[in-house]
Amino acid sequence: MTTSNLSKQEFLAVLKSVLGESGSSPIALHEPNIGKRENELVSKCLASGWVSSVGEYISEFEQGLARFTNSKHAIAVVNGTAALHLALHSVGVKPGDEVLVPTLSFVATANAVSHCGAIPHFVDSDPKTLGLDPLALREYLSANASLRDGELHNTTTGRRISAVVPMHTFGHPINISALVDVAKEFNLEIVEDAAESIGSYVGNTHTGTFGKCGTLSFNGNKTITTGGGGAILTNDDDLAQRIRHLATTAKMPHDYEYIHDAVAFNYRMPNINAALGCAQLSRLDDFLSAKRILANKYAEGFTSAGSMQFVTEPHGTTSNYWLNTIRLNKPDLGLRDELLVAARANGYMCRPAWNLLHTLPMYESSPRAKLPVAQNLWQSLINIPSSARHYLGQN
Ligand SMILES: *Cc1c(COP(=O)(O)O)cnc(C)c1O
Repeated sequence: MTTSNLSKQEFLAVLKSVLGESGSSPIALHEPNIGKRENELVSKCLASGWVSSVGEYISEFEQGLARFTNSKHAIAVVNGTAALHLALHSVGVKPGDEVLVPTLSFVATANAVSHCGAIPHFVDSDPKTLGLDPLALREYLSANASLRDGELHNTTTGRRISAVVPMHTFGHPINISALVDVAKEFNLEIVEDAAESIGSYVGNTHTGTFGKCGTLSFNGNKTITTGGGGAILTNDDDLAQRIRHLATTAKMPHDYEYIHDAVAFNYRMPNINAALGCAQLSRLDDFLSAKRILANKYAEGFTSAGSMQFVTEPHGTTSNYWLNTIRLNKPDLGLRDELLVAARANGYMCRPAWNLLHTLPMYESSPRAKLPVAQNLWQSLINIPSSARHYLGQN
């Protein structure tokens, strides 16, 4: 048998042993889990008439998120992209700035930078975490940027580099303590894109709470969903107040006059989505346990595989295993695609990592570091079915 056929066979065998046969409909990559509680709370919300951006579920959801992440403030918004946009704007990213972004990320990370009128500046990944590599970043900035009056400038473009947006890929935390040091050294704000990492920790600290602020997403394919939704986490009281103000219409408190003191976003999450969020949040621990069981089964299943490995949480961290991932032992787009096609033909919805952001037409001319690790990962990674339902209630 050819090696690629052997790889296909071992890949399909593990999927089958962990997930069972796919039935009449394929096994999703990651599907939402909507139960009784979700129906109850959404119905109550509908019956109350408070379906829009004012209502009790919004504050309940925000308080629940703050408690869960041990963050002082959580501000719920319409989606994760909006959360990132508002977060970057609020920490002072200005039109014409550059913002450091991993090229291996979902396009929203870079789009949020563009929505600020800023330019994403792409950096490389750490092979151990799949996320931004702080040590490579330090080396890169030392050679390509300089501090002037406390502001970092790209020595080639002359533009200010104001922030860095690390992203915890598929739920696996990056080496955030090293990034905090690098950000201090180069006077960069950190806005953590924790869209994929609710329930992921570095030590005992929740991802999204290391920088000035962090953002979450509750899109339908994430660990918990509000239909569409996102949130901004911050421990800074003044920043939280500014974000809340801009998340609405920046209206000044007054009995009847409409006075607005800033160009604001109207990004607030509606109560009906927050009701769904409250129900999902009450089940998050169960989802996380089920996803961990699933990940452990995969890890075990792939130990004897010859041409691929299961990606496990980085040392010292806890991953939510949002999307389980295998990595080919060597980069091979041909094999990657053969495995994807074979799995999908057998009813297991797998997908490759995102095309690297610096290769997309709108970002082709953006500044970038050398990106060898991200290139390698892009040709090696496959996400495999990861829904909580497979092992829910089994611990
Ligand atoms: C899901 C996601 C977002 C936000 O997505 P929305 O669909 O706008 O909620 C942002 N960044 C990353 C890395 C994501 O995976």
